[in-house]
Amino acid sequence: MTSPVSVLSFRNELDEKVLEWGWLYFNNGWVSVPKEILPGKYEVVIHESTPHALTFAQSGNNISDYFCTCGQSHRSVCRHLAALLFYLEAGLEKNN
Ligand SMILES: [Zn+2]
Repeated sequence: MTSPVSVLSFRNELDEKVLEWGWLYFNNGWVSVPKEILPGKYEVVIHESTPHALTFAQSGNNISDYFCTCGQSHRSVCRHLAALLFYLEAGLEKNN
C-alpha cells in the first residue's frame, strides 16, 4: 500500500536525498506532461538515462496509488515521484 502524498506538503515529508534528485530531474526538464489514461488516473514519463513510467491517481492536490517502473515505489516515494511533485507544484504557482 502506498500512502497518499500532497503537492502542498511533500517538501516537508519526503527524504532529503529523494527531494534533491526529484528537483534535479524536474529542473532538467525530464518530466513529461502527464497523460490522463483513465478518469483521475495519469501516466507520466521521467526521462532519466533509462526512462521510467509512473502511474498515479490525482484528486485535487493529493497523489495516491502510485506505481513506478523503477520498482521503488512500493516501499517509499521514489525520485521520479518526487520529480512529478515538483512539476505539479510549479503548475500551482503558475496558476496563482
Ligand atoms: Zn521511480
